[in-house]
Amino acid sequence: MKRLLIATNNVYKVEELQDLLKDTGLELVTPLQIDLNLDVPEDGSTYAENASKKAAAFAQASGLTSLADDSGLEVDALDGAPGLYSARYSPKPGASDADRRALLLENLNGKPRPWKAHFHATIAIAVPAGAVELAEGNCCGEIISEERGTGGFGYDPIFLFPELGRTMAELDMDEKNRLSHRARAVMASMPVLKKLFGL
Ligand code: IMP
Repeated sequence: MKRLLIATNNVYKVEELQDLLKDTGLELVTPLQIDLNLDVPEDGSTYAENASKKAAAFAQASGLTSLADDSGLEVDALDGAPGLYSARYSPKPGASDADRRALLLENLNGKPRPWKAHFHATIAIAVPAGAVELAEGNCCGEIISEERGTGGFGYDPIFLFPELGRTMAELDMDEKNRLSHRARAVMASMPVLKKLFGL
């Protein structure tokens, strides 16, 4: 049985990864479906470390080959912040995605435009015995100061693709999954999946 665990508790990432991997022929399993409640601290100093830690912990706990993603938004005018800390950018307890977007715009206030930025994703695929393989993807755009669109999550409503004139949150899942950092990382991970599962 060719089963792959999508090693994340982020429901948006689960949806995107399920869609990105739907044509692989693998049986995609979520932590919820196997009653796996695992919270892995993201205390590494690189995306690769965090993604590897998550994939390895889920693989060990489930006995299934596991795919994890660690990702973030890097803004040039902020020297690459929030980067690795994108999910925890606001110090406010219980901060929401909207709070993090607001803080980002506050920190960009007065900085020369365009506010060039890119999303980064590192994917780690771990087997239960412990070996981990990595793949990466990036996608470039600009931060804008007004929110646009209702799709996606995180920083999507303020991340513009200048050549499309649309934000990431104005794309449907199909479109986001053709362009996004996560899509590119999944594409780059296909040789690993092919090798591991004999696809
Ligand atoms: P982590 O990979 O769990 O550390 O979280 C990554 C964080 O980066 C998310 O919580 C978002 O804030 C941001 N992020 C990652 N990918 C995306 C995306 O596709 N759209 C918008 N924000 C994203």
